[in-house]
Amino acid sequence: MSLFAPAYYPAFRCIAGDCAHSCCIGWEIGIDLATLARYKALPPKERKAIFAHTVTQKGSTTFRLSANGRCPFLNDSGLCRLILTHGEEILCDICREHPRFYNLFSQQTEVGLGLCCEEAARLILTHPDPFALICLKDTAQSAPADPFEADFFARREEMFQILCDRSRPLPDRVEQLLANYSLSRSTIFDSDRHWQSVYRALERLHPAWDDALTAWENAPPFPTLPDTVATEQLIAYFLHRHLTGALEDGSYGVRVAFALLSAHVITAIAVAMGGDSPLATLIDASRAYSEEVEYDEDNTAVLLKELDRLQREF
Ligand code: SF4
Repeated sequence: MSLFAPAYYPAFRCIAGDCAHSCCIGWEIGIDLATLARYKALPPKERKAIFAHTVTQKGSTTFRLSANGRCPFLNDSGLCRLILTHGEEILCDICREHPRFYNLFSQQTEVGLGLCCEEAARLILTHPDPFALICLKDTAQSAPADPFEADFFARREEMFQILCDRSRPLPDRVEQLLANYSLSRSTIFDSDRHWQSVYRALERLHPAWDDALTAWENAPPFPTLPDTVATEQLIAYFLHRHLTGALEDGSYGVRVAFALLSAHVITAIAVAMGGDSPLATLIDASRAYSEEVEYDEDNTAVLLKELDRLQREF
């Protein structure tokens, strides 16, 4: 199976102790069965040291987070005590893979970096070149036999060609994407009051997200997308990560709308929050949006459903 990744992928390194929003705080970490078996096979002292900090409910085992939501193995320097003691091989799948995500196709796999990780967000938004996939592992392959997959790749290629055509201003490229999928511009870019109530009703992880939403609600409407490389990279990220859902339901337009809406909301929140460095604020707003909205399947489903409803009314 061939493996492809965005061009920025090989540059990713976890910044561990330098990370201000460590993924080892606030997230429930489920331990996969293969890793559990490895933990159970450890010598008694090491085994007990791990299982003293796990909890098993309804057949699934997780690390027992501390009262302030920290992984029990995260030390005061922001480093993982399991890695320090045993090496990276000790990690469960979630800890080893985060922040990677995978798009699985019949003849190839694509790996990407999730925007919820602050270092991944920095890499994605500051990548200077138009979005492109590079081959990390090549095996002889034929064109996809599945006609839906062949159609998917053709449509996605066309989307990225439009989005990444830097001979045109980004607003023109966005207009073409909207037109190609018969999407209503106003329901995405000129309906902030409506979307603020939708986002306010979503599930959330951290109180800081409420502050971000409040800043957005109190700011004047932000009706467009800035013509910047970071904005283009944001749209490309959401397309690359979420378009694969169209393979199941054929709903391409609603996922294009989701990518544009997400870039719009992140930008509006970053503008509302201000700060000395607009790019640093945009990166942090992207990370928070991804963590609070995009990584929550229920939240994403609510947004896709609402976008679908609005586009049908259009
Ligand atoms: S969020 Fe990213 S950079 Fe921070 S600790 Fe997790 S993987 Fe490392």
